[in-house]
Amino acid sequence: MAWNGVVPTTVKAYAATSATEPLTPTTIERRDVGPRDVRIDIAYCGVCHSDIHTARGEWGPTNYPIVLGHEITGVVAEVGPEVTRFRVGDRVGVGCLVDSCRECEYCRRGDEQYCAEGYVETYSSTGRDGLPTQGGYSRAIVVTEDFVLRIPDAIPLDVAAPLLCAGITVYSPLRHWNAGPGTRVAVVGLGGLGHVAVQVAAAMGAEVTVLSQSLAKQEDGLRLGATHYAATGDPDTLSRLAASFDLVINTVSAAIDVDAYLSLVAVDGTMVNVGIPEHPLPVNMFSLVMRRVSYAGSNIGGIRETQEMLDFCAEHGIAAVIETISAQQIDEAFDRVVASGVRYRFVIDTATLD
Ligand code: NAP
Ligand code: ZN
Ligand code: ZN
Repeated sequence: MAWNGVVPTTVKAYAATSATEPLTPTTIERRDVGPRDVRIDIAYCGVCHSDIHTARGEWGPTNYPIVLGHEITGVVAEVGPEVTRFRVGDRVGVGCLVDSCRECEYCRRGDEQYCAEGYVETYSSTGRDGLPTQGGYSRAIVVTEDFVLRIPDAIPLDVAAPLLCAGITVYSPLRHWNAGPGTRVAVVGLGGLGHVAVQVAAAMGAEVTVLSQSLAKQEDGLRLGATHYAATGDPDTLSRLAASFDLVINTVSAAIDVDAYLSLVAVDGTMVNVGIPEHPLPVNMFSLVMRRVSYAGSNIGGIRETQEMLDFCAEHGIAAVIETISAQQIDEAFDRVVASGVRYRFVIDTATLD
């Protein structure tokens, strides 16, 4: 029984039940609202490629059934008695993190995504209440207030949702590697992450180049803030652009020739992989050694930085470009994401779960 006598709430959701079957309607139990918890009525949830990797078991065994979704926006429906930062009716978001140890050096400095104990993921983790966590392809979620973000009034909830994962995942490395005036940034892959990366890097003042498989999305890329756009499907592109970027943000979800992309990095520059393909990829050490190139990875971002990113996006008029879908269209949407056929993020209107 909760502090106020409320029993756990049953909410409607869509779940993956195996790596191959379509998602199915289901119900899940959300925990009682604890003293420091916030219950959020979910309005929208973005479809991240990580949802697909997980649903299809591409990152190792998945515990089915699983409710995916970690790009959540909605409205606060209930708060526990000790909650200080939120009130009923507030516009809020939840990303990939719903808890962490809060005590290790990484948590203390706001890098909960690198928590030494392993953070609690919005789905596919065990929560501190001992229950498996379930994500945002559902009508409501209960989250401790410390892991709830405030959505600035300037950003509508539907186009804000993808910022909670795609947005922070590109903002964090762009900040960490000091993208700004005078830096040449390449964004590889104009998908969910990539289209936000272009906007954020441009707003930070960097000179941005999109490297996409074809020129099909060139107009969009330039409109989003890129100065240059090139097709990696053209065999001359990579050699023409050799050693010409300080920072390459690689968002590609599939296997690529890593050396070909490392060849783009200038002396002392960095390529950061945020894309996490299913299988390991080989790297030729000459690609790193000959120009003192760093090859790095980056995982989402901490809660403080996520709020900073949301505020930055509001200030600079940045939001996701979305296609809204119903819950019944999720499987079709998954296939279109894998085929690079979304411009640029599917967002589920969770009212369609009812
Ligand atoms: P997405 O919307 O599918 O975008 C990926 C883009 O990569 C596609 O739009 C496509 O861009 C390009 N691409 C796809 N297949 C390719 C291929 N075979 N060769 C070259 N380019 C290809 O996916 P997303 O949601 O942005 O996620 C991207 C990756 O990041 C996924 O692996 C996801 O799991 C991962 N991710 C990581 C984090 C993190 O914290 N590190 C967070 C979120 C997501 P073009 O059509 O422009 O070529
Ligand atoms: Zn994600
Ligand atoms: Zn920690």
